[in-house]
Amino acid sequence: MSLFSATSAWATEEHKMFAEMASRFMADELVPNIERWNDNGVVNREFWRKAGDMGLMAGAIPEEYGGVGGDIGFDAITMYAQTSHGDAGWGYGIQSIVTHYITAYGSDEQKQKWLPKLASGEMVGALAMTEPGAGSDVQSIRTTAEKDGNCYRLNGSKIFITNGQSADLILVAAKTDKSEGSKGVSLVAVETDGAEGFRKGRNLKKLGMKGNDTAELFFEDVKVPMTNLIGPEEGQGFYQMMKQLPWERLTIAIIALGSIDYAIAETVKYTQERKAFGQRVMDFQNTRFKLAECKTKAEILRSFVSDCIAKLEAGTLDAATASMAKYWGSEAQNEVMHECLQLFGGYGFMMEYPIARLYTDARVQMIYGGTNEIMKELIARSLDT
Ligand SMILES: Cc1cc2nc3c(=O)[nH]c(=O)nc-3n(C[C@H](O)[C@H](O)[C@H](O)COP(=O)(O)OP(=O)(O)OC[C@H]3O[C@@H](n4cnc5c(N)ncnc54)[C@H](O)[C@@H]3O)c2cc1C
Repeated sequence: MSLFSATSAWATEEHKMFAEMASRFMADELVPNIERWNDNGVVNREFWRKAGDMGLMAGAIPEEYGGVGGDIGFDAITMYAQTSHGDAGWGYGIQSIVTHYITAYGSDEQKQKWLPKLASGEMVGALAMTEPGAGSDVQSIRTTAEKDGNCYRLNGSKIFITNGQSADLILVAAKTDKSEGSKGVSLVAVETDGAEGFRKGRNLKKLGMKGNDTAELFFEDVKVPMTNLIGPEEGQGFYQMMKQLPWERLTIAIIALGSIDYAIAETVKYTQERKAFGQRVMDFQNTRFKLAECKTKAEILRSFVSDCIAKLEAGTLDAATASMAKYWGSEAQNEVMHECLQLFGGYGFMMEYPIARLYTDARVQMIYGGTNEIMKELIARSLDT
């Protein structure tokens, strides 16, 4: 299994070596723990640190801030290695997104302070945009960051925040100017350790992705130094989010690809072993055709993802194309999980078979990072100019 397609011109020898190392690490350190993390509702900190020690989270972070100064392809490789080993719980996708915000818009002081810790796994990051009353319509958020001396006072609540229980550093979207819509939104970084007035709600019970700690977060007069504003001035948050969303959407397509590859491999193995009517389930034409369809979707997605990674690196991945990757990739993932689970028969419905977990993990991919309806709206907008 590999993220690379024949057309992955972006993939150098270094990327390939990194991919081999990441894959070995996931086989040794991730696979034996997936079930436990799913039962506990959280990935333990030791794993974050081990991944940090291996440099798996440092790929795209500049060298002067504790990274290895590579490109986004390295982050894509880590994400693919995780998901192609059957896990959707480890919140590395968001960790990568947070590091890219700080790298792109953070001050030198912020980069010095946070990037090395995010690379090493000492800090876990989260990105908090969604609120109980504002999901797709991000500009209607109500969380405020009001100036008070040389601080902001943060008030409001966020919901469905990935890594919400573990997070040490949360980029919070808040209104610094309530009279403005999108132009009044800023990103403010909250260091959770000792932050008075900051409260984590319960670990939310979810249909899938159970190994991730997804939480509601509450901010009551939380004092945040003004130096924690992301960017040189207020009102840049919406613009920053729009610029970073193509990467967030592409991460969802990469996760889809890794999960599809894993599901197909598991299903091939199972149907080769399982017998019915005196023959292997793999020998039924229906099985062969369904798996052929799934494999075709995987290869189409692999090429598309690869193309998007190259475009992102070149600075040419537009919102519509990233939306296509997110929408099509997550739908392909759900279709593949549906077909693969069916080929396991009743065993596919049992949680001890990974395909059951993969099926439930897949569903949210069509919802978060912007729902697929919003993706289609963005694609349509690019046509209707
Ligand atoms: C497991 C999980 C993890 C998440 N992680 C994070 C995170 O880390 N950080 C974060 O900020 N958020 C996170 N989210 C939130 C996620 O991004 C939102 O749930 C998503 O954007 C949708 O918002 P909503 O739930 O409020 O749905 P709504 O916006 O209320 O949408 C409800 C329905 O209406 C449709 N709809 C809305 N607007 C339109 C429109 N204009 N045209 C057509 N249809 C429309 C939607 O597509 C959907 O079907 C997470 C969610 C989940 C479930």
